[in-house]
Amino acid sequence: MTTAPRPLSAWARNISPSPTLAVDAKAKAMLAAGEDVCSFAAGEPDFDTPDHIKEACITALRGGKTKYGPTAGMESLRAAIAESYATNYGLKVTPAQVIVSPGGKYSCYLAILATCSPGDEVIIAAPYWVSYPEMVKLAGAVPKFVLTPDTTGFKLTPAQLEQAITPRTRLVILNSPSNPTGAVYTRAELAAIVAVAVKHNLYILSDEMYEHLVYDGAKPVCVATLSPEAEARTLIVAGFSKTYSMTGWRLGMLIAPASITKACVELQSQMSSNPTSFAQFGALAALTEKDKTAAALKVMLTAFDRRRKFLHDELNRIPGVKCLLAEGAFYLFPNISSFGLTSADFCAKLLEQEKVAAVPGSAFGAEGYLRLSYATSDEIIRKGVERLARFCASLKR
Ligand SMILES: *Cc1c(COP(=O)(O)O)cnc(C)c1O
Repeated sequence: MTTAPRPLSAWARNISPSPTLAVDAKAKAMLAAGEDVCSFAAGEPDFDTPDHIKEACITALRGGKTKYGPTAGMESLRAAIAESYATNYGLKVTPAQVIVSPGGKYSCYLAILATCSPGDEVIIAAPYWVSYPEMVKLAGAVPKFVLTPDTTGFKLTPAQLEQAITPRTRLVILNSPSNPTGAVYTRAELAAIVAVAVKHNLYILSDEMYEHLVYDGAKPVCVATLSPEAEARTLIVAGFSKTYSMTGWRLGMLIAPASITKACVELQSQMSSNPTSFAQFGALAALTEKDKTAAALKVMLTAFDRRRKFLHDELNRIPGVKCLLAEGAFYLFPNISSFGLTSADFCAKLLEQEKVAAVPGSAFGAEGYLRLSYATSDEIIRKGVERLARFCASLKR
């Protein structure tokens, strides 16, 4: 007699797979099958990693840097990261406050595990990056959402935060520039939000993954620089993936007060030992070979900015579509609620009818929108938005 195996764990049964990765994978599969797909689903720059970064990694590999390394990351890389915060933001951090992890996503997870116990509440502004709620749930904590619509620039207000706080609230997650909306908070806006978090003694996870991808003179803000009280409770997550087009390298960082970083290092020691040894030499080159890195970043930013403006203009030309001109990241988040379809239906029909891939707003906790990534060629954007316009014209409003 055979007995069916038991069901898998509650963790395994309750996790939702990443919808952004799913749409992107579907579009890539259609492309591979020879279909003429225009994909706005990419969550990564369409540029290759700059050569000097690759070369440093290749040299490290040839030199035998293939063994386990320090759990918290290479000392030289942690020192270079610490120095970059002093240079970029005037924030004084020691290498002991820095941990290099296998990706910014992993850094976020470490930050949540280090600060939240089962039953604790975590405030997340929607539209949110898809992984936050799932990571909070994996920690046994409870995500609490606050909806921020386009009418307020997709920005959480201090009053909204104040209202969402309960005695169980432990952490608030901030993400500026934002994925999926591209919104960039001003220093004053962040200071007002952080003041509420400080008043209620919350931890702050500030996901600053897109800090260097800003346009129209927008300035990224390092949340830890807002006040000594902010610094004492902020865990900054940043990385190499988006800024230096290093998504496949799986390297991220976390900067926090030393006692918090120490806890994250201990978690990492059991969860992954260390970030990939030879990849870290590439990251080190990204930070130390400054002129080459700045030149590569400039090429990328120029292209992103041109596409951002073009896509924004074309979207607003489509009757029924409204789109803010986001100042950061590489996404626009147009409002398509006038068509009366759920965003999932809209995207499914759009892919079927016009072979255009976009991620529904519902994946980010905000119905009535689409996320369009402009980290793709000018040609695809031009063709894709033309098809989108034709699709919208075919819908009843
Ligand atoms: C891409 C992304 C990350 C994580 O990037 P990694 O590839 O894991 O370094 C974290 N937060 C946001 C908002 C992102 O878009």
